[in-house]
Formats: sequence, C-alpha cells, structure tokens
Amino acid sequence: MAKATVLVVEDEKDIIDVVDFNLQQAGYRVLKATDGAEGLRLARDQSPDLVVLDLMLPAMDGKEVCRRLKQGENTREIPVLMLTALASETDRIIGFEIGADDYLTKPFSPRELVLRVQAILRRSQEPAGDAATLSLAGLTIDPARHTALAGEEELDLTATEFKLLHYLAAHAGKVQTREVLLSRVWGYAYEGYARTVDTHVRRLRKKLGPLAERIETVRGIGYRFREEP
Ligand code: CA
Repeated sequence: MAKATVLVVEDEKDIIDVVDFNLQQAGYRVLKATDGAEGLRLARDQSPDLVVLDLMLPAMDGKEVCRRLKQGENTREIPVLMLTALASETDRIIGFEIGADDYLTKPFSPRELVLRVQAILRRSQEPAGDAATLSLAGLTIDPARHTALAGEEELDLTATEFKLLHYLAAHAGKVQTREVLLSRVWGYAYEGYARTVDTHVRRLRKKLGPLAERIETVRGIGYRFREEP
C-alpha cells in the first residue's frame, strides 16, 4: 500500500522538524510549507491525504488557509488537523465557520500527533461501516457514495460530518454518549475532547437546516437521532 502523504503547514522550524521526523517514523510521506500560500499550492498540486495546519502563520493565517482548502474543488475533501496555541481558540477553529476536522493544542506530544493523524486517516479512508443506503426522516444517506440528501438536495458535508450523521441515523432512537461518538466516528477516545463532538453537531445541524431538530440533545448524556419530529 502506498504511503499516505501528510502536508505540514507551520512556520516554526522547531515544530516542523519534530512533526516531520515523527510522521516519517510512523511511515508517512511528509510535505512541508512554511506559509499559507505555499501550503495551498502544495495541497492543490500534490493532493495530500491530510493537512496539519498551524493556526498562527505569517501573512495568511491558518483559518484562511483552511477556509480556502474547504472551498477548493480539489482540496475540500482533504481532512485538516489544526494546531493551536490556545485551548480557548478551539471552538472557533473546529466550529462550523472554518471546517477543520480536528485540532491539537500546543504543546503536544509527537505521539499524540501521530495517533491523531492515524485516526483521521483511518476514518477518511474507510467506508462508513454498513454500506447500505439509509432513508429516514427526509434524509437519504448513501455510505458507498458518501452522499447525503435532504429531500432532493445534496448536503455539503465534510467526511467527519458525514460519518457523524450516518452513525447517528443508523442508530436512530438510541442515545449516543459523546464518548461513544468520539470512539466510533473519530476513532479515538481522549478525555477532554467531548467538545469536538458538540461543535461538529452544531455545524451539522446548521447544514441540515429544517431537519436540524432531528438531532436531539439529551442533556448530560449526548445526542439522539429522532425519526419523528
Ligand atoms: Ca506558527
């Protein structure tokens, strides 16, 4: 199997060296860019399997790079792992307006970074479990084609949002805890990352529009997909 390619966009040399070394040790091909424009160019030209993107970059910041990646026809499917200096930034980063798939707060251990990269690649490359098309509550979810329709209209979902919607809908009526969703949808279960689930649900609801209320918040527990309004 060919090596997966990870593009690292980071301006701090110490960090880029550590990330480069550890990803290569883990068997990935690594591309490096030290600013946003170069990062975007490499993403378009080389179609990496994943982008590790620093938030604080000179000239064009990581937020803008992420937005452009998610708008680009050839780059929108590439998952983005955002590196941030502050935990308080994560809501905005992983929030629906930017579209990052995951985040890691600096300082992070190289091992944690590698585990995170592996988990993201696993969920973006594997088919979403059961390949049968689901039709319920006005939605048609096709895991083989990775498409979700609300009525006749195709929803513009990231790989993670799709997998989250599919998992919830496939278990309609059953409450799913954040921990279960983290492990089944994200492929890992780190304590303290429950907010990742919340921000993705928020983003997914926004994209679902009138069907948003199908994803019900069960206070203190998690989320449930409702077949009936
Ligand atoms: Ca930086």
